Amino acid sequence: MKPNKLNIALAGNPNSGKTTLFNALTGARQHVGNYPGVTVEKKEGRLRYKDFDINIIDLPGTYGLTAYSPDELVARNVLIEEDLDLVVNVVDASNLERNLYLTMQLKELEIPMILVANMADYAEANGVYIDYELLAKLLGFPVIRVVATKGEGIEELLDTVIKGEVKVNLQKAVRYSMEIEEAIIRIEKHLNPSLEDGAATDERTLPFAQYPSRWLAIKLLEYDKEAWKKVEATPYTYELLKQAETEQTYFKNNLGDDLENLIAEGRYAYIRGATQEAVKVTETNKISTTEKIDNILLHRFFGLPIFLFIMWSLFQLTFALGNPMVEWLEDIVAESSVAVGNALPPGLLNSLLADGIIGGVGGVLVFLPVILLLFLGIAILEASGYMSRAAFLMDKIMHKVGLHGKSFVPMLIGFGCSIPAIMATRTLENPKDRLVTMLVTPLMSCGAKLPVYTLLIAAFFPNEIAGNILFSIYLIGIILALVMAKLFRTWLVPGESEPFVMELPVYRTPKVKSVLIQMWERAFLYLRKAGTIILAFSIVIWALFTFPMVDVNGMEYANPSEQMENSYAGRLGKTIEPVLAPIGFDWKTGVALVAGFAAKEIVVSTMGTLYSMSDTDSLLEGEEKQVKSFAQMTREQSGFTPLTAYVLMLFTLIYVPCMATIAVIKNETNSWRWPAFTIGYTVTLAWIISFVAYRGGLLLGLGI
Ligand code: GDP
Ligand code: MG
Repeated sequence: MKPNKLNIALAGNPNSGKTTLFNALTGARQHVGNYPGVTVEKKEGRLRYKDFDINIIDLPGTYGLTAYSPDELVARNVLIEEDLDLVVNVVDASNLERNLYLTMQLKELEIPMILVANMADYAEANGVYIDYELLAKLLGFPVIRVVATKGEGIEELLDTVIKGEVKVNLQKAVRYSMEIEEAIIRIEKHLNPSLEDGAATDERTLPFAQYPSRWLAIKLLEYDKEAWKKVEATPYTYELLKQAETEQTYFKNNLGDDLENLIAEGRYAYIRGATQEAVKVTETNKISTTEKIDNILLHRFFGLPIFLFIMWSLFQLTFALGNPMVEWLEDIVAESSVAVGNALPPGLLNSLLADGIIGGVGGVLVFLPVILLLFLGIAILEASGYMSRAAFLMDKIMHKVGLHGKSFVPMLIGFGCSIPAIMATRTLENPKDRLVTMLVTPLMSCGAKLPVYTLLIAAFFPNEIAGNILFSIYLIGIILALVMAKLFRTWLVPGESEPFVMELPVYRTPKVKSVLIQMWERAFLYLRKAGTIILAFSIVIWALFTFPMVDVNGMEYANPSEQMENSYAGRLGKTIEPVLAPIGFDWKTGVALVAGFAAKEIVVSTMGTLYSMSDTDSLLEGEEKQVKSFAQMTREQSGFTPLTAYVLMLFTLIYVPCMATIAVIKNETNSWRWPAFTIGYTVTLAWIISFVAYRGGLLLGLGI
């Protein structure tokens, strides 16, 4: 250690006032030379302040560290290679957004940093007001108001410099999109194989040990020429560079843009988010399109209502456009079920094919149109940049429940599927936030629950209010997630929530190709699920309802419905019926709900199999099976009222995440404790909410 000696560098854009600050700090004690080997001016100066000897290097002004010009290269080499205690990043306070781009890159170098918001006088004269304290909290390093020409803020700056408490808060670094973050991790693993579980540290990668691995990974992904050259000149880096190239090609082909641009956009989104919160501009001279749109969509009062309206419209559209297609597909499935049923001689095979498989798998497949529409809507909102705004808008509310707006991002992803949503909590660095977000994300209505809602709404509610009913379920999911988060944050893992920067990417027209790719990936997953797990479960469920066919004495049951009640599934359902009766469900619904633990679509496929079977069984000798839509059979056979149907939707919304989600929670928390807790609390909560809704509904006379 060199206790009273400090080596610091001034970095910043050209014309940010670095030289003025440098002169104000060092006075006459400076000398000018050239950096070794290059003809870029090197200014160095000394200063004594309260027992500290401070050496100051004035770096050439640069806009970035991507090494396009000799100036940038010099600045960057000093920053990377020299033993600096601290970087003082000088920015033009009147033009923060642009200046902070360099700041983001400096931060990635993981050198302790102080931000000097210089020309504060000029900024204020132009109506730009900065909340320095908040900005410092958001960025994770000190921010100091300075007017270099008048010497204002210099003492505060020096006091902060010598305090030596400045650290890089890596939690507050720019988080890129999930895809980019995953690419960074893959590259980092090549740079440092010890990151891979169990692998021993590999001698070959040590040449890079002096650089932060995240920084170098990002540089390689950005196709930074200098970084690339350096790595190429090092032995055993073939695999690493190959990986970087693979990533670049992947992004170009699948996300329609160069990684370089996407990374730059990530930084700007971060900056926009930070300045949106911490900078107030009263006199706006030139406003960009994004700002104009944000003035409306992020409006203090109308922002949230607009968000709700957009979500409401999405569900209206999903149902209004999707349901006619669902009905059309249902007719086809119903007809093929009848065709198969009538073509084959009565018997087990007939029942397995017509009721078990076509009823079960077909009953799920028909919902493909609504699933596609929902995912189309989500993909468009996401690609346009609006989803990030939604999280931004929720920030205040999220703070009230002890979380942060960033936690709302995984929750929004949860509208699609809980699995990527829970993985997305990785972008939350605070472990408590992360855990709570993980626990409440399954309360969001995922795509697999949509078939259940669509079926029940189509069967029991008039078309005019269908979209509203659907929206209400999604809304209840969000509200419950917030309430539970508050409870968990109060009792389970108490602690303060910190401000974080919410990235705000620019608005852009979604690219048709990437939206379609996303939709197709979804469709494929849905079809594959139908062909595998749902098919398997349909057969198992069918068998559980079909056997045993005779009672203990080997006698046939008097009628099919008695046989069903005494089948394995029937016995299971009867066992749990007492628990479900108070909330209005019979034993058949109970069986569907138990099966739905595997995947929520199975609630629907089970009901499909079940109703199709009983419809066949009720046929009189020689009678032909009639073509009936799934919704119609549900209406006829379930015995539900609209109230029971709604309660069943609520129960499906809340009770247990599917098995795959449980497995992901187990992986991410590395213990069985939290998945077990999730199962326990969701089932309990589902029951309580359903009970209140059902009993309350009955009291209000809704149970007809
Ligand atoms: P550099 O390119 O970063 O070294 O910037 P300079 O130090 O050369 O400053 C650029 C211009 O900004 C000069 O005309 C300075 O007088 C002016 N300037 C520097 N600091 C301030 C400040 O705090 N307030 C105002 N109003 N002007 C400043
Ligand atoms: Mg200068």
